[in-house]
Amino acid sequence: MSAMAAARLGFRTHVFSPEAHGPAAQVAAFSTVADYADMEALRRFAEAVDVVTFEFENIPAPALALLESLRPVRPGAKILEISQDRLLEKQFLNHAGIATAPWAAVHNMAALAPAAARLGLPAVLKTTRLGYDGKGQTMLRGPDDLAPAFALLAPKPLVLEGFVAFAAEISVMVARGVDGHVVAFDAVENRHKNHILDITLAPAPLPLTVLAQAQDIARTIAEKLQLVGLLGVEMFVTADGGLIVNEIAPRPHNSGHWTMDACSCSQFEMHIRAVAGLPLPPATRHSDAVMKNLVGPEDMALWPQILATPGLIPHHYGKT
Ligand code: AMP
Repeated sequence: MSAMAAARLGFRTHVFSPEAHGPAAQVAAFSTVADYADMEALRRFAEAVDVVTFEFENIPAPALALLESLRPVRPGAKILEISQDRLLEKQFLNHAGIATAPWAAVHNMAALAPAAARLGLPAVLKTTRLGYDGKGQTMLRGPDDLAPAFALLAPKPLVLEGFVAFAAEISVMVARGVDGHVVAFDAVENRHKNHILDITLAPAPLPLTVLAQAQDIARTIAEKLQLVGLLGVEMFVTADGGLIVNEIAPRPHNSGHWTMDACSCSQFEMHIRAVAGLPLPPATRHSDAVMKNLVGPEDMALWPQILATPGLIPHHYGKT
């Protein structure tokens, strides 16, 4: 989707991916299929392009370091490093004065009980790295859950988070250009099924003051990170309208797909504009939208009906 947005702006995209025939390579001008550890392939790739960006977070640090030594990488490796590690992420956010769930690093089993005593139960134990869609995390409901939860996730570095009894989950996509100009899309509500994003409501059906505050938080994060590119900020909304940041993701986000059809400039175009050093237009929403994520054969069985239904706008990733 970023490659298609780039093409509309007259750019040709070169995709580097370990995956053959991946979605991006299907619509890009050039493609390199190689491992992220293949330094020679990375070097040839960097030498063939003007600027590098990514839309996948778990790119190994040495790969990005090499790319960054050869071409501008936007957003920068430092931002990726922060977003890859829940501890660095929370430290950064709290340092920037932004609320997160209360948390404690858990380096060994002996650290878990005191952490649980301090934060209270229920709490969520998570791996600090490589978690997504509910993977790499488990809920602690009572004292008996501590040892099995630790055994499940150890020996990876862990973080314990206080449980947030949220009223809603929302996200904001924010972009910052080379010139420092920041734009934020409207805050949207995200509803999950089996830990996977199911539905996004744009705008989030919440008080305008809460939505404006969510955008302010996203702008603050973009500025403190000196972001150049696009970043998603996931937040919990508490019953009293308080906002707690859960995660940041420096890339186009699942919960921002609605912008393709409800905004004059989509998150993907905003991403490409930011990393290519072009001006950023206002992130204006011209329509309300609901995004429904299609996951697996059951949902895809609806595809013919979706195509035949006026008002629905299908987008197929082209995943195998
Ligand atoms: P994450 O991988 O951190 O995005 O977490 C996946 C989902 O788990 C979130 O979208 C929430 O629904 C839930 N979750 C994660 N952390 C917490 C928490 N501290 N309190 C309550 N729910 C959480």
